[in-house]
Amino acid sequence: MATKRKTSPKPVPAVPPVSVITGAAGFLGSHLTDLLLAKGHKVVGIDNLVTGSVANIEHLAGNQNFRFIQQDVTEFLFLDGPVNYVWHFASPASPIDYAQLPIQTLKVGSLGTHKALGLAKEKGARFLLTSTSEIYGDPLVHPQTEDYWGNVNTIGPRGCYDESKRFAEAITMAYHRQHQLETRIVRIFNTYGPRMRLKDGRVVPAFVSQALRNEPITVFGQGKQTRSFCYCSDLIEGIYRLMMSDYPLPVNIGNPHELSMLEFAREIIQATGSKSKVVFKPLPVDDPKQRKPDITLARKLLGWEPQVELTDGLARTIEYFRRKV
Ligand code: UDP
Repeated sequence: MATKRKTSPKPVPAVPPVSVITGAAGFLGSHLTDLLLAKGHKVVGIDNLVTGSVANIEHLAGNQNFRFIQQDVTEFLFLDGPVNYVWHFASPASPIDYAQLPIQTLKVGSLGTHKALGLAKEKGARFLLTSTSEIYGDPLVHPQTEDYWGNVNTIGPRGCYDESKRFAEAITMAYHRQHQLETRIVRIFNTYGPRMRLKDGRVVPAFVSQALRNEPITVFGQGKQTRSFCYCSDLIEGIYRLMMSDYPLPVNIGNPHELSMLEFAREIIQATGSKSKVVFKPLPVDDPKQRKPDITLARKLLGWEPQVELTDGLARTIEYFRRKV
């Protein structure tokens, strides 16, 4: 009698998750792309390259798991095949950029978020919105907790960004409530690191490039206004954890280490060994006087907190900018 041959069950090939990232060629979008590829995702990156740069993703040329589409996210997004996650990162994000591109900024936060939500709905994918601490405006609550509604000047120079992101939060919650879409909202506080644009006008590239050239460091106002800076790898890890969580309401991700801009200028002079002196320039309209995230929720919900000290993060960032100035 023939003995029955035991057959082991056929191995089922693990299907890699598919992620779509809008703004994939930007500072943060490109770091997220790297993280997701390292975690085994297939990534489709979309960017219109208005503020993003191919240089941020050129190391991925030839990577079978990465596909780049140059497109404006405010136009209809059509993609073949399944999508598991949509990460909506596209937006100008520096005060100088959104002063120069106020209409594009409003459009990407409103129409672009609508299109990205539509894609997620069509594919049954989970959606994450990158919102911002700017939705708190010039905050009257300090540090900022997620339940603070903010103090925004709708018609000021920053209104185009702040209001586009406030609308984006509202439409994300509407899709969640109306269509039961799985959604996440991260409120990103000031973040820095390699791949920031040298001339994007934000304080980190501005101070570092001035210091590296031994030029005057341009502190706005009296430099008493505060910010709290998070290194990019910490931020991206927090965002990844949020996407994988089951929490639909906004979560602050940022580093609570708060500094005045004058202290920050001194820190950068020291870290670069620069001969630069501080000069004072007029404070831009509606520049928030203080900003520091309360990250109690992220700690509790995601077991997340920043790991990279300012001195270490700055050393890595300065190293990057040395090759650019
Ligand atoms: N800032 C400054 N000098 C500069 C650029 C910015 O003093 O050359 C200040 C700016 O007024 C603000 C802070 O640095 O108080 C952070 O500015 P940034 O543009 O990086 O972003 P924000 O946090 O205001 O969105």
